[in-house]
Amino acid sequence: MRGWPWIVGGGALAYALARRSSRRGAVFAGALPGRWVWPVPRWNDRAPAISDGFDSPRAGYPRHGGVDIMYPRASSDPFKAGTPNASKVFVMPDGISALAAADGVVRSAAVTPQGHAVVIDHVRGELATFYTHMERLSVKPGDTVRAGQPIGTIGASPLDKEHLKHLHFEIWLGGPSGRIDPAPIMRGWETVPSTTMVARNGGFLYRPVGAANEPYPEWVRALRGKAGVYVIRDTTSREIVYVGSSTTQLYDTLTRHFQTWRRWKGFWRGQYGEGHDPGLTYPRHRVEVAVRVTSPNQALDEEMRLIRKLKPRDNLTGVPALEEAPF
Ligand SMILES: [Zn+2]
Repeated sequence: MRGWPWIVGGGALAYALARRSSRRGAVFAGALPGRWVWPVPRWNDRAPAISDGFDSPRAGYPRHGGVDIMYPRASSDPFKAGTPNASKVFVMPDGISALAAADGVVRSAAVTPQGHAVVIDHVRGELATFYTHMERLSVKPGDTVRAGQPIGTIGASPLDKEHLKHLHFEIWLGGPSGRIDPAPIMRGWETVPSTTMVARNGGFLYRPVGAANEPYPEWVRALRGKAGVYVIRDTTSREIVYVGSSTTQLYDTLTRHFQTWRRWKGFWRGQYGEGHDPGLTYPRHRVEVAVRVTSPNQALDEEMRLIRKLKPRDNLTGVPALEEAPF
């Protein structure tokens, strides 16, 4: 094994690595050079976790060369164990991005029998990461990537009978034979929110809007003074819960749905300038929003078209029959 110029002892550099030996060779506990993030984003407010560890024995397979990453199950999760989205204790929703764990250059991005796979070089020839079981890739060989950049969409291994979705992740010192256990190193890594596309659906881009008390994402703030329509859906069940519009104040109209101190619908009666009830409020971290900016003239027509098409759960309660709608 060659020397690692970035492995230093003592405090001069923050990424000092403690190194000890194990049955499988070098084990590192500490940090690697540069900014490192978990290769799976937070899902709403939920951090990813290791669902199967390095070196774990599995019937019919070689010992595990990396870690598998999913989300710890919450009691409200709708996913049934044994489906592609869940085991008894972990879940993986559809459409979650795999992220580059650190800055680097894509060495390979290819379809393999175990799913779409990516290798990223971080210190060329010396330090790389490997990601597999993706169902789509968003990078190609030679691409420069930044820590936290989406590289593909998490899927399942086609060779896995259960088709359980998860990201398989490895850290290589040199090549694949230099695999080390990522778990102790990952303890020091940050998790990042999934601020990028969650899924495309019907031409709409649904994105998370952050959690309570967080500033709204830039794309939401950019709606100030705009006209258009918005679609709110439940992140977990993907049910469309509400469609609304504004002819002048898309930002204010949309964000009122997340003002949870006004959670009862009657509050809005008689207080809303545009003549219709903006509906219920929703916990920000449980929903995703798609927006289409339109001209002021088009906003109401587009809203009615989408209500007919998408049949949002909460528009249908307390709204007059569509034929009687005053626009
Ligand atoms: Zn695995």
